Amino acid sequence: MGDREEILKSLRGYLKHLRLMGVEFVPRPQAERRDPQRELEGIREEVLRCKACQLHATRKNPVLGEGNPRAILVFVGEAPGGEEDLQGRPFVGKAGELLTRIIQAMGLKREEVYITNIVKCRPPGNRTPRPAEIEACLPYLLRQLDIIRPKIICALGTVAAQTLLGTKEKITSLRGQFHPWKGMLLMPTYHPAFLLRNPQYKRDVWEDVKMIMREYEKLSQGRRNF
Ligand code: URA
Ligand code: SF4
Repeated sequence: MGDREEILKSLRGYLKHLRLMGVEFVPRPQAERRDPQRELEGIREEVLRCKACQLHATRKNPVLGEGNPRAILVFVGEAPGGEEDLQGRPFVGKAGELLTRIIQAMGLKREEVYITNIVKCRPPGNRTPRPAEIEACLPYLLRQLDIIRPKIICALGTVAAQTLLGTKEKITSLRGQFHPWKGMLLMPTYHPAFLLRNPQYKRDVWEDVKMIMREYEKLSQGRRNF
């Protein structure tokens, strides 16, 4: 009998013993089980091949997302725009510059958070993604969030907020408060592209972002930053 079999045999015996003692399950240690970076790369490859909706036909590059695979805070936008489509990276155009400044104003770096979108391929002419496209793409986002397990989600704009919360309510009434969401806290706020056209709403976003910062500080006390 090889070492491996030897170990498995005694382990089997030990588990049987535990079972007789009434132990129903033994949790696996986190550190060994989770490699969120690798799991996310797996999804990236799926998205590269994805033809689940018509957006695949016109995209140059799908945009899965980027950032800390163990981020406490995840930003979810709508869909890649022109620059994102060219680079295959989220929020790298004009709206992205503003999002980066917002993140920095929060005292964070882009690499500390995770940034992604509801839909991974650019809608032609930056039109709003259609319900069928959102439905086809949403499983990728849900899997990303399952892997990253953030504590806070910031939904940027109407599409992200309404899709995640499953509501048709206006962003104006959704923003400004945390919504409990799958054990996490979801804060809807205005989309940076909207802020570029309507800078008078920056004040509201700053209020939302300050609420996120307060929660973030509580949650990150003595915890993972990377
Ligand atoms: N707008 C979005 O919603 N997402 C991006 O990645 C870029 C612009
Ligand atoms: Fe697939 Fe999403 Fe791209 Fe549609 S938008 S082709 S569902 S990755």
